[in-house]
Amino acid sequence: MTNEPVDSGPAIDPTETFDETESITVPILLYHHVSDTIDSQYNVRPARFAEQMKWLYDRGYSTVTIADVASAIRYGTELPARPVVLTFDDGYLDVYQNAYPILQQYGFVATFYIIANTVDAAGSLNTRKLQKLLASGWEIGSHSMTHADLTTDSDWENEIINARLVLEEKLDTEIRTFAYPYGKANDALKTYTLNAGYSAAVGLGSIMEHNHNTLFFLHRKEIKSWYELDFFEEFMPWTD
Ligand SMILES: [Zn+2]
Repeated sequence: MTNEPVDSGPAIDPTETFDETESITVPILLYHHVSDTIDSQYNVRPARFAEQMKWLYDRGYSTVTIADVASAIRYGTELPARPVVLTFDDGYLDVYQNAYPILQQYGFVATFYIIANTVDAAGSLNTRKLQKLLASGWEIGSHSMTHADLTTDSDWENEIINARLVLEEKLDTEIRTFAYPYGKANDALKTYTLNAGYSAAVGLGSIMEHNHNTLFFLHRKEIKSWYELDFFEEFMPWTD
């Protein structure tokens, strides 16, 4: 296991000062598949997904990216009223085929966490499609090189640093944020991810208040296949 922090370009200045007391409220939602043909708790049917997006739109939510949230926490940049982040993990083709057109209808964007070694593999998203999402305002983030559990013996340099470099090279864009595989992290891993030059990292959880102390484990609320709209409404911060 190689866990020495390695300089990988524009890293964060660790002497940067922050207002530790200030929190922002942003629901960060996590999806995997959006498909009519997959039977899994990690799949939300397109009709249900569309219903959730309409609910957000009708209540004046605006989508932002994880990079936007990081920037708001670090530098105090403004977010729109009622911000929400839609994240998708693992880079499934059905997100491009089924979720993307629905988001386009509402002028919504998302943050897509891609496993670096799957790009351009058979049956996976290719560079051209990811570049189209980038051009539509989506953020592409890193979800490691191979989706290894990074809290057990694993090659952090390859999974965290090389994954970012591969994605940056293929997509010709800056990769700013990281999603821990399985939402699992420990303190050493969070510090390594910070030192690798990412501006934020996301895990799992239901807290919707974020601040500097949570920047390297931002909670994301996983949306399961069976969530009805009235349940969705129960955990969202603004419902009128
Ligand atoms: Zn994943």
